[in-house]
Amino acid sequence: MAQIAIIGAGVAGLAAGRELVRSGHSVTIFEKSGSAGGRVATQRVGGFAIDHGAQLVKAPTGRLQTLVEETGEADDLLGPVWIFDGDGRVNPGDPVFNVEPKWVWPGGNTALSRHLSRGLNIHLETAVATLRRAGTGYEVLDDGGGVEGAFAAVLLTAPAPQSAAILAASDIEASTRAELLAALAPARYRRCLSVALAYARRPELPWYAMVNIDRRHPIAWLACEHDKAGRAPHGHALLLAQMGPTWSEAHWEDLAKGTYGLGAAPLPEAAIEAHDLALALVGEDLGEPLWADAHRWRYALCDAPCGAAALEGRDGLYLAGDMERGQGRVHLAIESGWAAARRIMASLGREVYA
Ligand SMILES: Cc1cc2nc3c(=O)[nH]c(=O)nc-3n(C[C@H](O)[C@H](O)[C@H](O)COP(=O)(O)OP(=O)(O)OC[C@H]3O[C@@H](n4cnc5c(N)ncnc54)[C@H](O)[C@@H]3O)c2cc1C
Repeated sequence: MAQIAIIGAGVAGLAAGRELVRSGHSVTIFEKSGSAGGRVATQRVGGFAIDHGAQLVKAPTGRLQTLVEETGEADDLLGPVWIFDGDGRVNPGDPVFNVEPKWVWPGGNTALSRHLSRGLNIHLETAVATLRRAGTGYEVLDDGGGVEGAFAAVLLTAPAPQSAAILAASDIEASTRAELLAALAPARYRRCLSVALAYARRPELPWYAMVNIDRRHPIAWLACEHDKAGRAPHGHALLLAQMGPTWSEAHWEDLAKGTYGLGAAPLPEAAIEAHDLALALVGEDLGEPLWADAHRWRYALCDAPCGAAALEGRDGLYLAGDMERGQGRVHLAIESGWAAARRIMASLGREVYA
């Protein structure tokens, strides 16, 4: 049994952790935020539940399908995803995309990460600052001065710039650091301001969500979250506007994470703009929003993959996450975590049996 550290309790880190624990290793996961799931995140406001990150999950392989079934409560009940362009022209889009199951969980998609977390040793609110060579392994140092380890292997799953910051500050072999930093450098992310808007009236629409295909519209993705079970009280609407990178950058400072407009407080200009843009696409007047809830994703969706060393690991240090595939998708991040666990097990096996 080897001691293994995983940095980040997003779905990649959790999937890798489960795999390593199942094969008999001792795994410690370090997560800087107060809950597991990373970009699979559900926020609650009154009787509403908002999936500010991943909206739906695809399961195109048998193994992913089994995982979805294991959670015991996944729903594939969503209507179609339509498309719109930069001028706001809407049409039904790709029928093939729409027949693939789109998995969601009643009350919030964090049910998936809760399932993946079960039985794992996760240190929440522990931001890893650096790693330090200790014998043949590594110690993990957090930003509160805590030191854990030594670990025979460390898997970094934080988004590429955050993993790179840890490696850059670490007391590790210079060539290992240089190779891993070079592997992380190509990864690119789009920013996203996610704006949830609650209404006292529900529209009748032929789509569950709409996606902007030419990336010219201020909104990248608009969803009727009330179509998912357990997201909005009866008769109420919950629209989620995930804003494109240009709009998000321009309004980053205007909409800090939080709920606006409760108790008749005025909404910020940026939230009113998101509401106007969303209702123009909906094509129906739902009245003024009851409130708006904003979440900021600095590293939202990965657009370009990491280099080769990310796939192999170096010197007991491994990388995983959606950055490995260069596409922001939950199922790809999970598969990346599983693959990293296999590489770690193969490498530890070689050391044990050499
Ligand atoms: C707005 C938005 C919409 C999306 N929509 C979809 C969708 O509909 N369908 C889909 O399949 N995918 C979607 N995605 C993408 C999907 O959510 C991600 O690809 C996936 O969740 C990435 O998982 P991960 O484990 O690789 O990374 P993350 O989820 O980012 O996990 C990394 C973890 O590392 C932690 N961390 C960072 N630094 C440190 C540190 N120093 N110490 C300790 N912990 C640290 C972070 O807090 C985080 O929990 C969306 C993402 C966003 C943001």
